[in-house]
Amino acid sequence: MEEKAQKAPPAELLAKLKSYPFLAQYNLNLYSRSKTSSTNGTCQFEPCGSIVHDALSNEIGLNFFGSPLKPDLQTKKTAVYRYNGGFLSFVVSFDIGGTDFCLVGNGVRDKLIDFWQLERLSRADKVDVFSLLNQLEKLPVATIHELEGVAEQIHEILPSLQVERLYKSLYDQTVSRLSIVVGLLEQLDDLQSTDELVSFSTDLLGFVFDFPKVALALLDMDKECYSIVGKLGLEKIHDIPETKIKSFLTRDRSRKTLRFEEEAAAIFTGITAEQVIFFPLKAEGSHLGFISVFDSAPHSVDVLLVELIAARIAAKIRHLKNEAEHLQLNALSNKLLSVTNTLLFAENKDELYKTILELAADLLNATQGSIMMMDKSGESLHIVYTMGMSLHLAQCMTVKVGRGIAGKVAKTGIPLLVDDIEKDSRIGIRNRPRFKSKSLICIPLKLKDKTIGVLNLSDKEDMAAFTESDKNLLTSFANLASLMIERTLVIEESVIFEKMAVTDALTGLYNRRFLKNRIEEELNRSIRQKLNLTILFIDLDHFKIYNDLCGHIAGDEALRKTAAIIRASVRDMDIVARYGGEEFCAILPGTSKTESLAVAERIRAGIEKEAFPEEENLPLGRLTTSIGVASFPEDGHTFTSLVHAADVALYQAKTSGRNAIVVAHTP
Ligand code: GH3
Ligand code: MG
Ligand code: MG
Repeated sequence: MEEKAQKAPPAELLAKLKSYPFLAQYNLNLYSRSKTSSTNGTCQFEPCGSIVHDALSNEIGLNFFGSPLKPDLQTKKTAVYRYNGGFLSFVVSFDIGGTDFCLVGNGVRDKLIDFWQLERLSRADKVDVFSLLNQLEKLPVATIHELEGVAEQIHEILPSLQVERLYKSLYDQTVSRLSIVVGLLEQLDDLQSTDELVSFSTDLLGFVFDFPKVALALLDMDKECYSIVGKLGLEKIHDIPETKIKSFLTRDRSRKTLRFEEEAAAIFTGITAEQVIFFPLKAEGSHLGFISVFDSAPHSVDVLLVELIAARIAAKIRHLKNEAEHLQLNALSNKLLSVTNTLLFAENKDELYKTILELAADLLNATQGSIMMMDKSGESLHIVYTMGMSLHLAQCMTVKVGRGIAGKVAKTGIPLLVDDIEKDSRIGIRNRPRFKSKSLICIPLKLKDKTIGVLNLSDKEDMAAFTESDKNLLTSFANLASLMIERTLVIEESVIFEKMAVTDALTGLYNRRFLKNRIEEELNRSIRQKLNLTILFIDLDHFKIYNDLCGHIAGDEALRKTAAIIRASVRDMDIVARYGGEEFCAILPGTSKTESLAVAERIRAGIEKEAFPEEENLPLGRLTTSIGVASFPEDGHTFTSLVHAADVALYQAKTSGRNAIVVAHTP
């Protein structure tokens, strides 16, 4: 138990050795074997770590010493070897905490190079002897004696390499890294954008762990591809399809390190490396991306630390994403709110159609579009507003429900998003020249399940194709627009109804019911503002006889003409109504009795002058009127009293011989 706990950590041992200046120029290869099992003689020295700066001399050295270490080379306490025509190596065996170690150092050469042996080596390895010689010449020169000195020096420093000390230095390094990481992670919380976070993260990994090459990749919106968004020490690295890397990211921890020549080279096209370790970025159960560290063999404590950092980075990315989605939703609902306001202010349906189309185009950055409304029969659509085409021309076109793109959408009630009109199997028609891009979007305008029209948009400003999220946005907008259209149609219809309720169908003048309300309103105003008001009661003379003479149809025509003459004889602000069969009433606000006489005379003379068919057969030889005049305040303060006074005056006009104006004289 104790032995196991005290086992010397090879990475720390090597790092410690390398830190001594007298070992700085050597490639160091450490082998180990357990002491307990060495008695059976089969246990060999296995490689357990190396620090290399000259790959060629190290490779030649490893070939010479073997992996595991060749048995005839492992017995001596210290030894120096000269091999392959000039390479020099030292071998030192020692024991730390119950483990046998063997350290092999290389990377230096003898002053004399044996060209013939070198050639043999180059032939065996199929390398050009001159380039081999060239490389060999670059190595630092040493003597066998010097290397023996190095080996002895290693034995001298061994007491300082005891297990506790190695663990102490590992502990110290971990504590210092932890405190740096904790400090940096605090800063990570303050970052405002994913870009900031990415560059912060790659810098952190390079700075704290000395990783030479790091890449940070994030999964795209459509989850099909990992984009490399951050990198350190890497030139060019391509984005990676999700399917290519999926299995590595879901592996358990122990299998996340890949030898590069195997699967990893296929994933990371465009870069060369020896090996790679993946650290998935995962938050709330979903994969967001990964960090990959190339050509580094971190201690297991550091791997744990990076996993911890990766988890924090992932949580922060998730947080930023949530925040961005929230902001986008807010912006959208604000936009829809202002859109609703704009729509509410449209004064009539034509203005509403225009507003809807302009807002829709604005939402999606479209430059062309149209609104089509379904006719009452539900069989065809006609364009009510258009952008990018003459409205005049468009209004002449109708689209049969079920035919063409808009017709199909109207029939099915399902929105249609077309990426490329020429390639879409649902459409398959040639793009018309007036459209610049081949993408379009067509959304039904629906009230519950009933389609009342369609909204078409095409030609994005940047010529891009419409997206699924464009379709969703426009569908929400279309629901709102449909409600607004219905509201406006209902209002317009009710205005027509209201008008019908207060007007007389034959003459187009106001009817008696309306007149009563208006006289009361006008009277109240006159009382408040101390203004005069006069009413004229106008009745056609002998109209029964005229009807009998010429028939009802001619009678109606005479009534219409009379109405027109009265209307033309008064000001716009005056109110004219048909009071009964052939009786009319004019209200003249702000007009005194005397002033009104001129108006009454215009009416009387106007009708007298007007030619009516067969009027010569009437008792007076012409179709004429009698008019009774009554005024506020002298003849009354109420509707009833004023009408009564005017009626009495009219009666007097009739009895006085007709075709006359009589003014009320209320005592
Ligand atoms: P007076 O000079 O005394 O006013 O005689 P009058 O014949 O005009 O009066 P009276 O009130 O007796 O007759 C009104 C006639 O107006 C009765 C009817 O034939 C005619 N009349 C009422 N309403 C209509 C209508 O809507 N169309 C037509 N063509 N005639 C109508
Ligand atoms: Mg009459
Ligand atoms: Mg009458």
